[in-house]
Amino acid sequence: MTTLPKNARIPCFLCGEWSAVKLSKKEKPYFVCQGCGIQIFVRCEAGISNLRKLIRNLAEENTEFLRIDKSSLEVLSLTSKLLKLQNNLEEVLNRKSLVDEVFGNAKTDAAEIAINSEIKSILEALKKHKKQLGRN
Ligand SMILES: [Zn+2]
Repeated sequence: MTTLPKNARIPCFLCGEWSAVKLSKKEKPYFVCQGCGIQIFVRCEAGISNLRKLIRNLAEENTEFLRIDKSSLEVLSLTSKLLKLQNNLEEVLNRKSLVDEVFGNAKTDAAEIAINSEIKSILEALKKHKKQLGRN
């Protein structure tokens, strides 16, 4: 039987949102990300063992684990922020194109400038991580 800590949560590798780890009818752990809808099933013992370690390390904030994987966690969080900003930018641009149609060429608005500058700084931070990972 698979045993996992109760109320275990892990971050989604795609969007960084935290989701509960559940057990299927066949006692295999899985999680469904509310952020992007992916479902992950862990079917073999090696994966289940890795999942158990991940849950334990995340719960204990195991310092060794954080030292090794701090960079990966930061990349996850940056990627998640980037996705949200890109969605925001898309909304702003859609709204702007509507305004353009009605009133003629509207100026680049403050929201667009702010989002673009945030996106730029996140991309810079991701580039730094890429360089660091390349060195290891
Ligand atoms: Zn997700």
